[in-house]
This record gives sequence, C-alpha cells and structure tokens, in this order.
Amino acid sequence: MNDQKAQFYFHGSLNDFLSPSLRNSWVSYTYRDQPAVKDAIEAIGVPHPEIDVLLVNGSPVALLSPLQPEALVEVYPLHHSPQWPEGYSLHTPTPGPTTFVLDVHLGRLAKLLRMLGFDSRYENDYNDATIARIAQEENRIVLTRDIGLLKHRAVSRGYWLRSQHADEQLAEVIQQFQLKHDFHPFTRCLTCNGNLLKVPKETVLENLPPKTRLYFNEFFQCKTCQRVYWKGSHYERMQAFLNKIAG
Ligand SMILES: [Zn+2]
Repeated sequence: MNDQKAQFYFHGSLNDFLSPSLRNSWVSYTYRDQPAVKDAIEAIGVPHPEIDVLLVNGSPVALLSPLQPEALVEVYPLHHSPQWPEGYSLHTPTPGPTTFVLDVHLGRLAKLLRMLGFDSRYENDYNDATIARIAQEENRIVLTRDIGLLKHRAVSRGYWLRSQHADEQLAEVIQQFQLKHDFHPFTRCLTCNGNLLKVPKETVLENLPPKTRLYFNEFFQCKTCQRVYWKGSHYERMQAFLNKIAG
C-alpha cells in the first residue's frame, strides 16, 4: 500500500506538545494502512484526553474515525471557543463535582486539591493501569506529568501538567477545568481524601496542642482517619494563595 498524507493543525495549548517548528502551522503526516484519527494525533505527540473538538474538512468527527487521505484535521483543546455547536465536543458534560486521580509523583498537588475540597485520589504506589482503571470506573480526570499515561485507551479525561511546581500546577488545573467558583475548603482530609465533618470542640479537645486549645473554636474531623483540622497558619497560607490565583 502506498504512503498517504493528511494535514493537522493544533490550536492553543495543544501546541505545548509539539516541537517549536510544528507549532501554529499545518503539520503534514504520512501514513500507511488505515489509522484512526486518534492514532495519528498521538503519533504526532498530542494525548487524546486534552482534545475537545476534532474537525475533519470542517466537520466534527469522533476520535476513532478512520483517517482519510488528504484530510485536513483541526484539533482544539478544551474551552478554546465558547461557541461550539451542540455535539461538537468529544466530552459529554458530567454531572456532579469535578474529581481527580493523580499519578504517583503528584503528592503535593493532591494535598492542595484536597485543601480546596476536590475529591482527589492519590497513592504513591499506583501504577499506570491502576490509575487508568480508577479514572474509567469512577469517571475521574487523570492528572499527570507522564504524557504516555494520557495516551492510555481507558483514559478519556485528563491533563498533562506543564509545570513541575505544585502551586503552579494547582493554578493550571483550576484554569483548565474552570474551577475558580467550586472551592469548598475544610470538606476533605489532606492526608486520606476522606470527608471532613464539623465537630464540637469538646469532642477533640484532648488531641489539640495547648495553643490551639486556647485560640481556636471551630474544628473539623476526618470521618475516615479521625485527623482534626482547624483554621490555623495553614489556613492563612491557603487564603493568601487563593487571593494570589484570584488576582
Ligand atoms: Zn483522613
């Protein structure tokens, strides 16, 4: 079978996956047999979960549709245009709060997300197959620094963190999934992701350091691991951080 060619154009943040010479321009892709559009896009370097809309010769197509010779393929990230007609997005909106599963290198980011109240599964011994399975079964967004993990077939929603610093990563996630108005601090345990419950001071009194006993009156306890939280210095740091990203 002869070589065939198709052209790809990647919009916005999807250019982060391309070498500089391929950014914001038509990329020629040569292939044999009959790959799916998804296979060609991932061979060029872009993981499918970051794609929101896929147009072939101007019409929306599914990720697994076969690549046609001479096709002009335009690939758009999430939130590129607020005006896509109905049915263009590859992602069906999911009801309920946004939830995550994080890869093993993202312990600090997991804590920050939990601090804002986001249900974020993380263990330092998850392998790729486990993360993909949790994402699929529990309909969670995969967060990772590993582009290969996002190419896993079972992963449908995910995001590759551009930064290696937890604070910047948190800002990226808030921006990418538009979470600025969905913060619920003191609802989730930083350590185990369990739900927090507001508890009367007298029930946790004996576990508190002396100064905390003196200066604080509002307490929250993890239903799973019983850890106790209050609005101490940690809370002030969080407020300062939230002001920074809101500004
Ligand atoms: Zn806990």
